[in-house]
Amino acid sequence: KFDVVIVGGGHGGAQVAVMLRTQKFMGSIAIIGDEPELPYERPPLSKEYFAGEKEFERIQLRPAKYWDEREVTMLLGKRVVSVDPAAHVVTTDGGETIGYGKLVWATGGAPRMLPIPGGDLPGVQGVRTKADADAMKAASETAGQIVVIGGGYIGLEAAAVLSKAGKKVVLLEALDRVLARVAGVDLSRFYEKEHRDHGVDLRLGVCVDAIEGDTHVTGVRLADGEVIPADLVIVGIGIVPAVEPLIAAGAEGASGSGGVLVDRLCKTSLPDIYAIGDCAAHVNDFAEGATIRLESVQNANDQANVVAKGIVGDEAPYHAIPWFWSNQYDLKLQTAGLSTGHDQAVLRGDPATRSFSIVYLKAGKVIALDCVNATKDYVQGRMIVTAGLRATPEQLADASVPLKDLLP
Ligand code: FAD
Repeated sequence: KFDVVIVGGGHGGAQVAVMLRTQKFMGSIAIIGDEPELPYERPPLSKEYFAGEKEFERIQLRPAKYWDEREVTMLLGKRVVSVDPAAHVVTTDGGETIGYGKLVWATGGAPRMLPIPGGDLPGVQGVRTKADADAMKAASETAGQIVVIGGGYIGLEAAAVLSKAGKKVVLLEALDRVLARVAGVDLSRFYEKEHRDHGVDLRLGVCVDAIEGDTHVTGVRLADGEVIPADLVIVGIGIVPAVEPLIAAGAEGASGSGGVLVDRLCKTSLPDIYAIGDCAAHVNDFAEGATIRLESVQNANDQANVVAKGIVGDEAPYHAIPWFWSNQYDLKLQTAGLSTGHDQAVLRGDPATRSFSIVYLKAGKVIALDCVNATKDYVQGRMIVTAGLRATPEQLADASVPLKDLLP
């Protein structure tokens, strides 16, 4: 039995252990993770690691020595398949039972795969783990043409890496613009142009009917009957939160986005069980109190800190400004706040210079910014979103005035 058992050795799980020890928690801690590796950073899997610019050692969250010295027991290569909340015990796929005092569920999610014929053929690859990235990298080396399905961040980042490496890439998006779920239309149009300028064959509003192939993918069939040849299909269409064992144990789930419901202290409806990160549906102050899941390192780390502090008796509700980044080509996008529901988008700077920001407003209040190669706007943007600044579109559009100067 461990005082704290953390299920999932990703960003959130690792940070709970780090923060517990930082808070001088003296109890026993175990991380049960189904991947064989020690906790590592996931974002580089579609960026520097995929591009071969960073070795695996450089994306590990902490060296092995760190976990040893802090006496964090790593139970890796084991998947938790059931939870008994009354007995305070979890069971792994190997039949092992492990007792807990507090349980932290930090399991992220599995890539959503295409529910169409051929959707699980060899050569169809989701992107979530080091193993996925390694498989994708190996397959891309010999692939003639690669089709990426999904114009979200992961699909776009993978397309950028591949096209930079000289690969023929076709990117298919079902909606009429890329990044439709997370950004305003101006940002979508900017990235669409960038990808096309880099040779990506970007197609919007296309519906994929089937993946063709016998023993391995050979192409992607669209609804209009066209078959696009492909030796590798990368699927980036979101995740399915990995919460089945917890829901089966009686935890309240979230409708809509899926995941497990947590309160402001990241507690589930089951006693002594917390949930954090990509799998946790929570009330977010920066989404006007809507219940959402956020898939970001920020959210995983900040919720981990809420839980660790809660365990040592320093309870404080989750209230952290969402932030995110994405690297494509030589463009560094940094996002502060959540733009969902904005009613105005103000352009600051000139996209032609490849350095600009978009400021999102709702009822006159700044709720989010997307900053492309504009770190100063991003840093100050976090301040004005946190402050709930009200400003006119004219004020925000004037790039000669630093955003922080608009604060009262
Ligand atoms: P994860 O980091 O996914 O960790 C969950 C772990 O739990 C995994 O190891 C999983 O295998 C394991 N697990 C699942 N079920 C079980 C079980 N039953 N038993 C045991 N173990 C289990 N975010 C950003 O902010 N910026 C970015 O640029 C960015 N880029 C990304 C690029 C890629 C390719 C991906 C995949 C994600 C990216 N993200 C990015 C998102 C970010 O990585 C996630 O939000 C973050 O990893 C969430 O942390 P987590 O702890 O909730 O889940």
